[in-house]
Amino acid sequence: MATEFERKATFPTGGVHPPEGKESTCGLALQRSDAPQTVEVLMQQHIGAPAAPVVNRRDEVKKGQLIGEARGFISANVHSPVSGKVKRIENRIHNPTGKAVAAVVIDNDGEDEWAEGCNVERDISSMDTEAMVSAVREAGVVGMGGAAFPSHVKLNPRPQEPSQQSEVTDVIINGAECEPMLTCDHRLMLEKTAEIVDALALIMHITGAGNGYIGIETNKPDAIAAFREATAQGRGENISVIPLQVRYPQGAEQQLITALTGREVPSGGGLPVHVGCLVHNVATALAIRDAIRFCKPLIERPLTVAGDAVGEPGNFIELIGTSFEHILRRQGVAEEVRLLISGGPMMGVAQAQADVPLIKGNSGIIALCAAKISEQRACIRCGRCVENCPLGLMPNMISVLCENGLWEESRDRYQVMECKECGCCSYICPAKRRIVHMIKWCKAELAQMEG
Ligand code: SF4
Ligand code: SF4
Repeated sequence: MATEFERKATFPTGGVHPPEGKESTCGLALQRSDAPQTVEVLMQQHIGAPAAPVVNRRDEVKKGQLIGEARGFISANVHSPVSGKVKRIENRIHNPTGKAVAAVVIDNDGEDEWAEGCNVERDISSMDTEAMVSAVREAGVVGMGGAAFPSHVKLNPRPQEPSQQSEVTDVIINGAECEPMLTCDHRLMLEKTAEIVDALALIMHITGAGNGYIGIETNKPDAIAAFREATAQGRGENISVIPLQVRYPQGAEQQLITALTGREVPSGGGLPVHVGCLVHNVATALAIRDAIRFCKPLIERPLTVAGDAVGEPGNFIELIGTSFEHILRRQGVAEEVRLLISGGPMMGVAQAQADVPLIKGNSGIIALCAAKISEQRACIRCGRCVENCPLGLMPNMISVLCENGLWEESRDRYQVMECKECGCCSYICPAKRRIVHMIKWCKAELAQMEG
């Protein structure tokens, strides 16, 4: 029976419970994939300014070498995932937005030769916290749960207003993995338990936070048990392993913070740090640790490949820049794919083509034959989208206004900019209205209007 605390470990408003669909891959260990012949490494894989290429056509590069330099405070470095030769620099389709962005295309020489100073263990006993944050910045670490926000910025927040809190008291490792069909974080938690605890202890050290939490949905009882065991020994002081109710979007930052601490991130641009919290997904925490302890740039990531169109689904450690096409062919994909998704089925983005490269924020590739693409109908005013919106928004009104091009009214009267695009409203809508699609469209129009 759940304890009183366990019953509370969820968010108060809205949410849905879609079919989990994790059975086909949750028991499959992460396998390291062979490097492809060619990688296409995008210069924009993160929120913020794109990186600028610092290599030229025909340059020889080593694995882990800087090939794109961060531009500005909110930006991230990009590194070569292979050793080889730069074939060309060209515009490629950005997954998931579909925009064209610069990419460095590298032919793999198969030598797997690391750049000097990369992938070597570092003595961190004399490193101060500033040097640790700098190591994370150098390594180009960004949020790997999907948001792709540069991690060094989160580790070193700057208050925008003097009155805002910028002190981190609680570090949260996000092991919810609430997206259906994705299981690579689950596997990472089972296979790298001690390393994730070490990563959390490092992040607590950097930020000076006194409390650490590892939040995991109760559909992963083996991961909860593994962390309880790992934190019962030595480094678990001040670290709590909290089972979370299986409820989407439990892994969204705001919902996770409320579930674990009872605090609410303020609306209108509030950040987790304004309530003393810092949240990192499990893969991101490991990448932060790798950057600090092993001088390892972010050039690979865990990935779930699943869906009824995939012959051999599984969990893989995949190099950034590998094309979806390569991965799907390798795993045996059916001819008649009706829907290809980058990410999970709730927040992921449908792809028009498989010729897109993997980026740091991609946690899944889902290929489906049996996907039913229904026609959307007029709103029947059932109110289910409102009931299930975790942020208490009115997606019904927003979608109708968006259909009529009333972008500013959506923003000013219905707070469309607060929407986190979780997809609960579209999922629950009996009229199959593409509410999230309309919201994204509205935000893009507003961004253009605001210049
Ligand atoms: S996508 Fe936006 S409007 Fe829809 S349920 Fe999620 S937060 Fe609410
Ligand atoms: S769930 Fe769909 S049909 Fe019902 S109120 Fe919302 S938009 Fe309208």
